Amino acid sequence: MESHSIPFLDLVTPNRELKNELVAVFKQALETAGFIGGSMVAGFEQDFSRFCGTRNCVGVGSGTDAVRFALIAAGVKPGDVVVTVPNTFIATTEAITQAGATPDFVDVDERTYNMDPEQLRRYLQVQCSVDGTKGQVYNRRLGRPVTAVVPVHLYGQPADMDPILDLAERFGLLVVEDACQAHGAEYFSRKESVWKKAGAMGKAAAFSFYPGKNLGACGEAGAVTTQDDEIARKVRMLRDHGQSQKYYHDAEGYNGRLDAIQAGILRVKLERLRVWNEKRRQAAARYRELFESANGHEFPPYEPNWSRAVYHLYVIRVQERENLMRALADVNIGTGIHYPIPLHLQNAYRSLYHKAGDFPVAERAASEIVSLPMFPSLSAEQQDRVVGTILRFVVERRERKTLPVCS
Ligand SMILES: *Cc1c(COP(=O)(O)O)cnc(C)c1O
Repeated sequence: MESHSIPFLDLVTPNRELKNELVAVFKQALETAGFIGGSMVAGFEQDFSRFCGTRNCVGVGSGTDAVRFALIAAGVKPGDVVVTVPNTFIATTEAITQAGATPDFVDVDERTYNMDPEQLRRYLQVQCSVDGTKGQVYNRRLGRPVTAVVPVHLYGQPADMDPILDLAERFGLLVVEDACQAHGAEYFSRKESVWKKAGAMGKAAAFSFYPGKNLGACGEAGAVTTQDDEIARKVRMLRDHGQSQKYYHDAEGYNGRLDAIQAGILRVKLERLRVWNEKRRQAAARYRELFESANGHEFPPYEPNWSRAVYHLYVIRVQERENLMRALADVNIGTGIHYPIPLHLQNAYRSLYHKAGDFPVAERAASEIVSLPMFPSLSAEQQDRVVGTILRFVVERRERKTLPVCS
C-alpha cells in the first residue's frame, strides 16, 4: 500500500488509553448490579454540571431525549411552533415534533453556519404577528404560536447567543440550546463581558454523548443542563415514566434514563475532555497554518473572536466537492459531509411545504462542505498529508481548467 490510511474519526485510541479505568467501571457495575441510576449517574451529573457551569445536569438516554425533554420541561406545548436551523442533524427537529410542536426554520450565517440572528429577527417581525392582548407571537403561515428557539452550536462552535437571547426576550420565547456537538465550547457575551460555556446560556440545553461526540459514551447517552431547578425536576420525571417517587406518576413520561455504566464511563472521560478539546483546537490551528502558508486562505473555517470552538468537526468549503472527496479517498483519507441535505428538503418534512431556495445559505453550504479528519490524536504528519492532498487537487483542477480543449 502506498500510504497508511487516515481515518475521519478515531474512536479506538481514547478507549485503549483509558482501558483499565473503563473496565473498572464495568466491573463495579457487574459486582453491584447497579445498572440504572445510583451514585455513578448522580456523580456524573454533578461533574458535568460543574464542567458547564450550570446549577443542574440530568443524565438521559440520548441527545435526542435531551432535546425532547428540555423542550417539554421548559414549557413547549403541543401545537406550538419551535424555530431552529435547516442545517442540523434531524434529531433536533425530531425532538421538536415529538414534543408535539412544529419545527420551522431560519437560515444560517454564511461564515459560521450557525443561526443568523438577523434572519431570526426578520422571521419574527415579517412572518409573525404579535397578539396584542396576550403578547403571544403567531406565525401567520402556520397559524400557530411560536414559543421557542433552538440554536444549534454546530461543529462545536457556539451560535451568536447575545442577539438570539435579546430577540427571545423581546418576543417572549424560550431558548433551548442544542449543544450536542459543543461540549466545552465557549461564547464571549459582549453584553455581559464574560465567557460562557455552551449549555449555560439558554433556559435549558441538550448534550449528546453518542460515541463520536467530543465526550462520547460506549453506547447511547445524553444530558440536559439548566440553571432552572424546576426544569431539572421535570426532566428527572420525564426520563423516568413521569414518576415523582416510585410508582407515583404525576404524568406520563418516557423511558429515557442514563445507564449507570455509561455514566461511569463518561466520568472517566470527562476528566480528559479539556485536554482533548485543546488538542482539537491545536489541530485546527495547525490546519489553518498549513492552508494559509500555501495561500489557501479560503479553506480554514471562520472562528469569530467571541467564539472558542471545540471543533467537533473541521469543515471546509470547496468547489467540486465530490471530486475532492474521491481524491482523498484514493489515498485512504476519510472525509464526511455534515449534512448533505438540509432538513427542509428531506422527504420526512414534505408536509412542511418547503422548497429549494427557501434557505439559500444553508442549501449552498450543503452542496460545498466537506469535513476533514479531526480527533485529538490526529498527528502533524497526518495533517500534512491531508492538506497536501487538497492543495495538489486544487492545483491540478486549475491546470485542467486552463488546458486547451481538443475536439
Ligand atoms: C448527535 C446530535 C443529536 C442527537 O444525539 P443522539 O445522542 O444521537 O440522540 C442532536 N443534535 C445534534 C446537533 C447532534 O449532533
